[in-house]
Amino acid sequence: MCVSLSNGTVASIAPMVEYHLKVKPIVYKYVGKDENTGESFEFFMVKSIKQDSKSYNVVNENDEWVCDCPSFKFRSGTDVHGHCKHIRLVRFLLDKKVEIEVISGD
Ligand SMILES: [Zn+2]
Repeated sequence: MCVSLSNGTVASIAPMVEYHLKVKPIVYKYVGKDENTGESFEFFMVKSIKQDSKSYNVVNENDEWVCDCPSFKFRSGTDVHGHCKHIRLVRFLLDKKVEIEVISGD
């Protein structure tokens, strides 16, 4: 698969994209159902490339991207949209139509 990384805005997520494509997937899509309401929900799980046991959840709520990492929470290292690298990574993969493995919570 050929994904161009020449665009400067994606430079900061380049190592993560490379890792996802060439080493092993670090982004998964989790699809589940709320036990109480029966409503289905989905979010993206982004694993840290430095610590395998660490992962962050990225979710799109009403067209707003939210991540549960400290960077997003404290708005440090985020871009002009307030997006951390995890959100940028997920959006990049979606934009490039990179296949993301789906994990079912059922
Ligand atoms: Zn994040």
